[in-house]
Amino acid sequence: MQETMIDIAVIGAGITGLVCARQLQQAGYQVVVLEKSRGLGGRVATRRLEGTWADHGTRYLEPQGKWTEQLIQSLSDRGIVHLWTKQLYQYAEGELSPQEPRPCYVAKDGITAIAKELGAGLTIQRQQRVIAITPNAGHWSLTFEGSGVDPLPPLQVRAVVVAIPTPQALMLLEPLSQEGLPEELLTTLRSVEFDPCFSAIATYAPNRVAELENLPWRGVLFRDDADLSWVGLESSKQRTTQQSVVVVQSSAQFATKYLEATDLQPIGQQLLTRAAETLLPWLDAPTVLQVHRWRYALTRTPLSTGCLATTNPLPLVCGGDWCSSNNLESALKSGIATAHEMNQRLDQRSLPILTFA
Ligand SMILES: Cc1cc2nc3c(=O)[nH]c(=O)nc-3n(C[C@H](O)[C@H](O)[C@H](O)COP(=O)(O)OP(=O)(O)OC[C@H]3O[C@@H](n4cnc5c(N)ncnc54)[C@H](O)[C@@H]3O)c2cc1C
Repeated sequence: MQETMIDIAVIGAGITGLVCARQLQQAGYQVVVLEKSRGLGGRVATRRLEGTWADHGTRYLEPQGKWTEQLIQSLSDRGIVHLWTKQLYQYAEGELSPQEPRPCYVAKDGITAIAKELGAGLTIQRQQRVIAITPNAGHWSLTFEGSGVDPLPPLQVRAVVVAIPTPQALMLLEPLSQEGLPEELLTTLRSVEFDPCFSAIATYAPNRVAELENLPWRGVLFRDDADLSWVGLESSKQRTTQQSVVVVQSSAQFATKYLEATDLQPIGQQLLTRAAETLLPWLDAPTVLQVHRWRYALTRTPLSTGCLATTNPLPLVCGGDWCSSNNLESALKSGIATAHEMNQRLDQRSLPILTFA
């Protein structure tokens, strides 16, 4: 990318950033999305494994409000998501029991299909971590660190959307307090706390496929377990697979205890051991085990807003699920609010009604 002036840079290609960028681009702004990872979706994440895959962040899509309902409708009409189960189970006080039925949707190639849909048609620079935002002669200048690629040259933009978890946002924004960024905005961002989570992604021998298929449950939520929060049968989300794949997610308490560990394998193994004790004895003996650390997994202390905005020193809007909750509905809602707020602070164009098609 040349050193040119663009209207809006959106930092973060999670659901919030993608929805915001989509809205602003549809209104005619020139928008670029900057993402530090190779894939889109942020915490909506799918790990590719040999011959199979696993959703190791967001577990499934469910109606949580107006925007997730519309998203599910649009994606299922186009065959991108399908009903996975209406019957989740819960594990509490040593007992496994069915929960109140509710529809849970998944995508045939993994949940990142949602992000790919939302990102279609956008200009997205991947593997580019934004490391500084500085005001410079009436515009923002963004600088980058490439992840396995060369960094982009500095990018000049009129306005910035910061659509990332608050601790990561603060790393970029705290240096701006000397440039006139309101202290109140920083204080509000500092009040939002996140819980971490570990995801163990375990593959088992092919002869386990039939056994997993015959289980009554596809996903189990753990209530008040010291170690676990979720076990999902990933292979049951896939229409054709010869592999058995299970994702085990930790509790916040467990993840906080081991957050700074350097070797993640024993942590994943501990999670599998607990899953074996509670659900199926052979879950502690995978053929392959991968472990992912989510440092900022779920918002513990969300705000009750759509976004946070300022024009000091230049137009900047912050958004994310943390604005109102810790789920996809709040990310979608914040993406829309962020786009509206940014438009108000720039050219007040007519913003189209959000559609997911
Ligand atoms: C383990 C787990 C399970 C979950 N399960 C569910 C569930 O079942 N249902 C549900 O509704 N929600 C669930 N969630 C929550 C849901 O995933 C989030 O609410 C939602 O994805 C947040 O989207 P976001 O766009 O606000 O943030 P994010 O998804 O965090 O997106 C931020 C993006 O910004 C990028 N980024 C960060 N810093 C920079 C930088 N400096 N430069 C460039 N890019 C940067 C990140 O790589 C990321 O792609 C789960 C989350 C986790 C972690």
